[in-house]
Amino acid sequence: MTTGIRVTIWNEGVHERESEEVARVYPETLGGQLAKAVEGKTGIASVRCVELDDEGQGLTDAILDTTDVMLWWGHIAHARVTDENAERVQQRVLDGMGLVAFHSAHKSKPFRALMGTSGNLRWREWKGVGEKERLWVVDPAHPIAEGLPEYIELPHAEMYGEHFDIPQPDQQVFISWFQGGEILRSGCCWHRGQGKVFYFRPGHETFPIYYSEAIQRVILNATRWAAPTRGAHSPTRGNVPPLEDMG
Ligand code: ZN
Repeated sequence: MTTGIRVTIWNEGVHERESEEVARVYPETLGGQLAKAVEGKTGIASVRCVELDDEGQGLTDAILDTTDVMLWWGHIAHARVTDENAERVQQRVLDGMGLVAFHSAHKSKPFRALMGTSGNLRWREWKGVGEKERLWVVDPAHPIAEGLPEYIELPHAEMYGEHFDIPQPDQQVFISWFQGGEILRSGCCWHRGQGKVFYFRPGHETFPIYYSEAIQRVILNATRWAAPTRGAHSPTRGNVPPLEDMG
């Protein structure tokens, strides 16, 4: 058994190639920038970046078999992920793999499959420059909040607002306030089967949000939190004999 978390970063990888603006903000791709949050950090055994156009959409058994936590960034090509692959990711989470879904991944197939809801919300990209967002830590004792200030302020963000069509989170770590007046449950935890899912709102391909030190800290914390807990991973289900003598 390996020690340490094996991370796979799944990046759609379309914006960076189709838009010069995005390529300027994320010259090493969005996935490459997410990787910087976890690479070489304590508890992280390996970091691998895959993309939609890779063999098997970057979701082959060989990859999934060696992934403890998957980070997912997608936006304009959700529909290109095959239903079969989305289902396989969903099943892996039920079997214990962690999933951290970022920003527009609220509409990704694996996230929606795991939530059972549409993932729809309000949004606004104000005049191309965005607006101020404050992510308030509403659960300071949560491991994902470790080392953070009371709130994280992002000067230029796309607005995502309520109502966000998700099941009530098992744990709520962040709630965002936006300059335009909306709020959003922006850092949400769920248990699904043996696996854990964290949705983290910040991102957007034209804003340099993943360079923020505080945001990088959340990415690392969330990756650690979502990692499988070894030990209780094969619960027995179905028809079983009694554990004690029934006489
Ligand atoms: Zn966006």
